[in-house]
Amino acid sequence: MRDGKVLGDDILKVDMFLNHQIDVTLLNEIGKEFHRLFQSAPINKILTIEASGIGIACIAAQYFSVPVVLPKKGRTAMWANLYTSEVFSFTKNKAYLIGVSKDYLGPDDHVLVIDDFLANGRALIGLKDILDQAGSTLEGIGIVIEKGFQPGGALIRGMGIHLESLAIVDP
Ligand code: 5GP
Repeated sequence: MRDGKVLGDDILKVDMFLNHQIDVTLLNEIGKEFHRLFQSAPINKILTIEASGIGIACIAAQYFSVPVVLPKKGRTAMWANLYTSEVFSFTKNKAYLIGVSKDYLGPDDHVLVIDDFLANGRALIGLKDILDQAGSTLEGIGIVIEKGFQPGGALIRGMGIHLESLAIVDP
């Protein structure tokens, strides 16, 4: 509440500790808390998406002792043997393609998805699409900040997915 800034009607800027300057002590507590919340699930991989999700996922992964899978973004020369999905970016206001190698996700994987923000849920739906293609089990989703006034939380909970948001912001 002290360090966040509101841009327009619906963007929360937390550059002070999460998205630009990173408070690693806080990230460590976040990772520990995700582990506490999901420790009963047989998680063997963590999947994340946006740049800011990487740090959070990697620190959480140390508590679970599992690897982090980060989708490739946009078609490149190395775009082969992938599960792919299209995601509409909330902050960039455009669609982009994500792809995960068939080498790194499969039917034996039990996956925790981690991201910094939940707004409309488009990023999470894209990641779930990838997991469905791979035949992997989505064990749960850990979000640092959910914007409770946008529809993503209800969408994901309505699908019966175990969603834990550490902070839920209402206008
Ligand atoms: P969604 O896919 O749920 O619509 O949006 C989630 C994604 O958009 C997150 O990966 C996050 O990077 C970005 N995002 C959405 N809302 C915000 C916001 O208010 N602030 C910041 N910094 N990122 C956001």
